[in-house]
Amino acid sequence: MFCSQCGKENAAEARFCVHCGAPLDPEDLRAVARETGHYSDLPAGVAGYGGFWRRVLAAILDALIIGVPLALVQGAITPGIYDEQLTAEAARADLIWSVVNILIWWGYSAGMHSSVYQATLGKMIMGMYVTDTAGARISFARATGRYFAEILSAMLLLIGYLMVAFTRRKQGLHDIIAGTLVLRRAR
Ligand SMILES: [Zn+2]
Repeated sequence: MFCSQCGKENAAEARFCVHCGAPLDPEDLRAVARETGHYSDLPAGVAGYGGFWRRVLAAILDALIIGVPLALVQGAITPGIYDEQLTAEAARADLIWSVVNILIWWGYSAGMHSSVYQATLGKMIMGMYVTDTAGARISFARATGRYFAEILSAMLLLIGYLMVAFTRRKQGLHDIIAGTLVLRRAR
């Protein structure tokens, strides 16, 4: 069985996770969570939190699915924007595309995260979805806050993303700011 806290596999008869020590039985976990506040009470059907590398892979998939076609379209519409030496015209097109890119990624990220899928295509493929800290679907407004907080996470030398690897509920800075969790579906 898989540990609901760290996601690692354990023997079927194990009572505690050999990797992180969490109780594997949901009833035991709830009891310990109540007593100590240490473990979260994840909803049924959830295997755990989306870990760092799983989320990196989801981001790479989104970049391939959305980012690459977008870059190709931009290069086709305004040739010269990827040149080393930008002409004034290409520099202006580059600036406009930067704004368009932010709008498209915002619409994609906030739209998908607040949709019934609660995930971008990359997260869907990686078996993850986003909720608020109570496990409910987030609104477009909250998803918008999360998206712009994610830009902040990226600007802080990616430290905001790295926090996923070190926080108990695997929250990046943007998750903490927006009050969101990334959950991993039980297979
Ligand atoms: Zn564990």
